[in-house]
Amino acid sequence: MIDDLIEGYRRYRAGWTEAERELYRQLVEHGQSPKVMVIACCDSRVDPSIILDAKPGSLFMVRNIANLVPPFERDGAYHGTSAALEFAVRRLAVDHIIVLGHAHCGGIRALYEENQESSASDFILGWMRIVAEAGRHVHENCRNLSPPQQRRALEQEAIRVSIKNLLTFPWIESQVRAGKLHLHGWYYALAEGILMALDPLSNEFRSLLDGNEAK
Ligand SMILES: [Zn+2]
Repeated sequence: MIDDLIEGYRRYRAGWTEAERELYRQLVEHGQSPKVMVIACCDSRVDPSIILDAKPGSLFMVRNIANLVPPFERDGAYHGTSAALEFAVRRLAVDHIIVLGHAHCGGIRALYEENQESSASDFILGWMRIVAEAGRHVHENCRNLSPPQQRRALEQEAIRVSIKNLLTFPWIESQVRAGKLHLHGWYYALAEGILMALDPLSNEFRSLLDGNEAK
C-alpha cells in the first residue's frame, strides 16, 4: 500500500506543470486566502477536494469523526475543531462554512448502535455525544423507518445540530447576523455520488443540482 502511495506521489510530481508551480508560488507569496471552510468526516470515501474538484488554497478544512461541530466551550480542553473554526473565521475571514455529512458514516453508526445498547469505546462515543440530541430526535420521531433509513435521518439531523452549534460561537453568530458569513449543511449520498444541501426554508435536504446530475 505504501508503495502505491509513493507511486502516486511520483505521478503527482511528474504532473507538476508550470501552472502548478505558479499556483503554489502565488500561495506562498501572498499566503492562503480560502473563502470557504469545510468541516468533513475522516471517512476515506468522502474527500471534499475530490468531490468538489477544488484546487489547493481554496478550501480550509477540518476533518473529524462524523463531521461534528461541538458547542462553544471555554473549558481548557483540547478543542481541535473549535481552533480550526477560530482560525478560519477570525484570521482568514472565510465567507462560507460548509458542514459536509455523508451516508454510511461509521461515527453516526456508533451513536445509532449505542442507542440500540451496544459497545463501548475510549473516545468515539464521548465525541459523538455532541449530537446526542440528534440521536434522541431520531429515536423518538423515526420509529416507523427501517434501520438504514433511521441512520440516514440521524446523519442528516447531526448536520442540523452542528449548524446550530456553529451559532453558539460568538464570532460566528455576529458575522452570520451581519450577513458576512454563510452557513451550509451538505450531505453526500456516496453510493449514488449525489451531493445534497439543507434547504433553510423546508429544513430538508435536496439535491444541490436539482436532480440534474449526469448518471
Ligand atoms: Zn463519517
